[in-house]
Amino acid sequence: MKKIEHIGIAVKNLESGNDIYKKLLGKAHYKIEEVKSENVKTSFFQVGPNKIELLEATSPDSPIAKFIEKRGEGMHHIAFAVKDIRREMKRLEKEGFILLNKEPKKGADNKLVCFVHPKTANGVLIELCQEIEK
Ligand code: ZN
Repeated sequence: MKKIEHIGIAVKNLESGNDIYKKLLGKAHYKIEEVKSENVKTSFFQVGPNKIELLEATSPDSPIAKFIEKRGEGMHHIAFAVKDIRREMKRLEKEGFILLNKEPKKGADNKLVCFVHPKTANGVLIELCQEIEK
């Protein structure tokens, strides 16, 4: 694991979330991106070497919609940057973590991602992400 790449925050409304985090961080988001496969719309803020990702559900069966229904708005996941996502997935599986996808998938912000089940990480959803080489 190289560093915390971003922290994901589930919001009911991306526009009002963007307003709040713009005030909080003193600058606007640098991109909005829809991830169709996850039924989410995301926005990203750069904060020094790390990022904040706001996530809004685009359909009622989105994982974000279910999360907000159960727990309300708030911190949703921590994402760690990794150099080699497949190697890291193998390592974590061997250590007993449950991976939510067996193959890396295309996430937001030009990343290959894999999620680790929160029940194997003290209640925190973990995301691994590897920058896709252009
Ligand atoms: Zn994320």
